Amino acid sequence: MFELNGVRKSYGTVDALLPFDLETRTGATTVLIGPSGCGKSTVLRLLNGLIVADDGDVRFDGVDVTGNRVLELRRRMGYVIQEGGLFPHLTAEGNVSLLARHIGWERQRIDARLSELADLTRFPREGLARYPAQLSGGQRQRVSLMRALMLNPDALLLDEPLGALDPMVRYDLQEDLRRIFRTLSKTVVMVTHDLAEAAYFADELILMRDGAVEQRGRMEQLLDSPASDFVEKFVRAQRGIHGSDQ
Ligand code: ADP
Ligand code: MG
Repeated sequence: MFELNGVRKSYGTVDALLPFDLETRTGATTVLIGPSGCGKSTVLRLLNGLIVADDGDVRFDGVDVTGNRVLELRRRMGYVIQEGGLFPHLTAEGNVSLLARHIGWERQRIDARLSELADLTRFPREGLARYPAQLSGGQRQRVSLMRALMLNPDALLLDEPLGALDPMVRYDLQEDLRRIFRTLSKTVVMVTHDLAEAAYFADELILMRDGAVEQRGRMEQLLDSPASDFVEKFVRAQRGIHGSDQ
């Protein structure tokens, strides 16, 4: 569904992505993992056309994402950023329905979709009238997720969607997210820096380092046959945090 071929991206003198290739399967969850600054967010921004590659091709469903169809394509991808990116001056409902109103959905259709999404994401109906500052961190991320799902996109791009949450809230949301991905058969590209979370979600894992792919495959492959010392160290460092095996 998503395809990056030989993509390079620099910001001034910083090479954020060296030639980078990626192909995701329709309906599968691909997880990008790696240390801070390795280029994970840059990949997501390229996938939805927020930034343009210096070199190489970015395609969604076979169509060039940088072309004149970028807006149409972007509506087929929901996007959730780490802090949620909600507009503080709009209620939860206002945030979720913004784009649908913009493209002219009728009130009835919007209301029906809102209640469907509140059920799906287990968000309390009464919370829809609240502003982001009046919601908990977990609730805010449920709102961000509803907003991303509003137009029923084919794909979801999630940039550390659970990174800022405390462990128990995070645990609940992980379960809900995985259920939602499976129920709706969405093509998902998710960024995390947590290996356990990556293992929980990933059909395919891509471990990045300095703008390039260090190893890709299933979690067992990274654990059992690490491609480099870096992979081994990355895995070991994360196990250390969780206090096991060391
Ligand atoms: P990650 O999401 O893996 O932490 P990013 O994709 O955000 O990494 O960033 C990759 C590299 O590009 C980093 O070195 C980062 O500092 C740099 N970078 C990202 N966005 C910008 C920007 N808008 N301007 C300058 N440098 C940037
Ligand atoms: Mg990032």
